[in-house]
Amino acid sequence: QADEKESMYLVSEFANTFFQKTLLKTEQGKAIGLSYFKERGFTKHTIEKFGLGYSPDTWDAFTTEAIKKGYKLEYLEKTGLTIIKEEKQFDRFKGRVMFPIQSMSGRVLGFGGRILTNEKKAAKYLNSPESDIYHKSKVLYGIYHAKQAIAKEDNCFLVEGYTDVIQFNQTGVTNVVSSSGTALTSDQIRLINRLTKNITVLFDSDAAGMRASLRGIDLILEQGMNVKVCSFPDGEDPDSFAKKNTLEELTLYLEDNAKDFISFKASLLLQESKSDPIKRAELVRDMVTSISKIPDVIKQEIYVKECSRIMDVSEDVLFDTLAQMHNTDA
Ligand code: ATP
Ligand code: MN
Ligand code: MN
Ligand code: MN
Repeated sequence: QADEKESMYLVSEFANTFFQKTLLKTEQGKAIGLSYFKERGFTKHTIEKFGLGYSPDTWDAFTTEAIKKGYKLEYLEKTGLTIIKEEKQFDRFKGRVMFPIQSMSGRVLGFGGRILTNEKKAAKYLNSPESDIYHKSKVLYGIYHAKQAIAKEDNCFLVEGYTDVIQFNQTGVTNVVSSSGTALTSDQIRLINRLTKNITVLFDSDAAGMRASLRGIDLILEQGMNVKVCSFPDGEDPDSFAKKNTLEELTLYLEDNAKDFISFKASLLLQESKSDPIKRAELVRDMVTSISKIPDVIKQEIYVKECSRIMDVSEDVLFDTLAQMHNTDA
């Protein structure tokens, strides 16, 4: 079994090298893949740092080359790099630009592949399937390049996508990782928890991004970590925002706009109808639910007071609500 996993790592490593070479050295790779990355503003250095690649737009060029080099079809299939259908072999990532997903120690576990056209006929991103080496709920994209900076800055920025991580790095903010499209999991948070107790969630300024970051908050609090939330101007995501700004501008924006989770939730109410008592009650309950996840009772008390102040609800009522939640939890 250990041997089997090692064979899967090796074939993934080979694929990564193959995709990089295809991007940088072939006519098709340069014309299609490299020009796509250039358009997104990625420099040569960034492309190399993140091992970005291109999977040729043919049915089986990658698979054929891998087999020629002695890699077994069994492992090509187990890693999902090759799809076998009616005894024929197909490259999973045909015609996509490639983002290798690395472990904490830098091993290639799997890939994300993006289509270049904006046609809706195929999924924008296609990922490696779950396998013995790739468990998507347990990896964070970018962690290999971020781990030192996360410890040093004692904070981790959490973003939605591959390109958000990459653009931040290029701009000069390197303590950043992404859950890459999956809803944030406790295992992913645990990886960060080993490095820092502070997470700042940066989400895309759309409804989906907002929902995702709200879901993540309670999971982070549960692990006794501190969570801030920062949104971006309309229509922006961390990638597009970082691309338009200098390191100084980006850093200043993050400092000015990162809000503690309680203030963030309160600001949601201001955006909606502030006077609607039902919405207001719902939101207060939601805040208390978040507070109930915090293991440290002293912190809980501080947040209850904060919540009472900004939502103008008495502390007694909030403490009662909190106590009821604990009772139903147990
Ligand atoms: P881009 O800037 O390249 O359009 P993005 O990162 O801004 O991509 P989002 O639509 O914000 O893309 O999605 C965030 C992340 O969710 C992506 O980086 C990717 O990891 C994942 N994702 C998006 N669409 C899909 C999809 N159709 N299938 C699987 N994962 C996806
Ligand atoms: Mn998004
Ligand atoms: Mn996005
Ligand atoms: Mn984007």
